[in-house]
Amino acid sequence: AEKLLEIENLTAGFLTVGGTVKATEHLSISIEKGKTVCLVGESGSGKSVTSLAVMRLIDYNGGAILEGSIKFQGEDLAKKSQDEMIRIRGNKIAMIFQDPMSSLNPVYTIGDQIAESIMLHRKKGKKEARQMAVDMLRLVGIPAPEIRVKQYPHELSGGMCQRVVIAIALACDPSLLIADEPTTALDVTVQAQILDLLRSLQKELGMSILLITHDMGVAAEMADRIAVMYAGIIVEEGSANEIFARPSHPYTEGLLKSVPGLEGARGEELYTIRGNIPGLSQLPEGCRFHPRCPYAKDICREKAPTVMAVTEDHYASCWMYSEEGGAAAWKNESKP
Ligand code: SF4
Ligand code: MG
Repeated sequence: AEKLLEIENLTAGFLTVGGTVKATEHLSISIEKGKTVCLVGESGSGKSVTSLAVMRLIDYNGGAILEGSIKFQGEDLAKKSQDEMIRIRGNKIAMIFQDPMSSLNPVYTIGDQIAESIMLHRKKGKKEARQMAVDMLRLVGIPAPEIRVKQYPHELSGGMCQRVVIAIALACDPSLLIADEPTTALDVTVQAQILDLLRSLQKELGMSILLITHDMGVAAEMADRIAVMYAGIIVEEGSANEIFARPSHPYTEGLLKSVPGLEGARGEELYTIRGNIPGLSQLPEGCRFHPRCPYAKDICREKAPTVMAVTEDHYASCWMYSEEGGAAAWKNESKP
């Protein structure tokens, strides 16, 4: 299938007084047209930095792309000027964030804010844009859109505001929507409604979604493919079916065991992965996960594993799957 976005060997980070801190390293993922890829991992794993790098917003946060390419519709975003990026952002790629209130302007009506986006990106006049704003509100499932269009953000619930933010994002008819924890600030019922909305909009509009979440439950609902990030690198990647049927990296296994109601967690006491994610300027030697890994061996503490194929089209960075790491020995051991 046709790839819309192809990130290859992306390393991005920040220049600090202590030197360069790499927040995401040698990251490769691609998204096909109309599909959803989830980047999952605990906070601090480099998921958001990755999305900021794709949008080149990292440049405004004291960061930079240090290596690699971000091919979007055949063009490398890593090489674009900010002037060119301004035309791509909000036009072909739109982004939504965790807190809808921070994306909305409290002093303008929601109708004005959607209309402004339509005028800017679709080159429509004011009158037509206002009518389209009502249609957009209907599209994102806001009841009585003719009335809502005249209201201010504070007059709407958090869930309704996130729908408005989605309407603004879609006003430019993007090919790619990047959603960074879009439901994390919402309560569970509203969360499910927003995920439903994103899925049905995707079906209707054919856009691709890069969804960033710490929540394996959200990934289970949404993802076609999943990339699990830990301490700045992808540790496992594969189709959502594969990842849930055969979680292969010990970190993914831990994430899945710690989600209530998912396979592996059912009926047992909820699992927590021991320890904390390391700071990016104090990464452990060898495998970055080794201080927290229940299976760690000597080689894990000494040498970083490379990407290994677990099955066709399913990859993990873990010594367990390599000859050099003594895969055979691991197989014969019972897991702790
Ligand atoms: Fe655990 Fe070793 Fe695999 Fe790292 S390489 S995840 S420490 S078993
Ligand atoms: Mg984040």
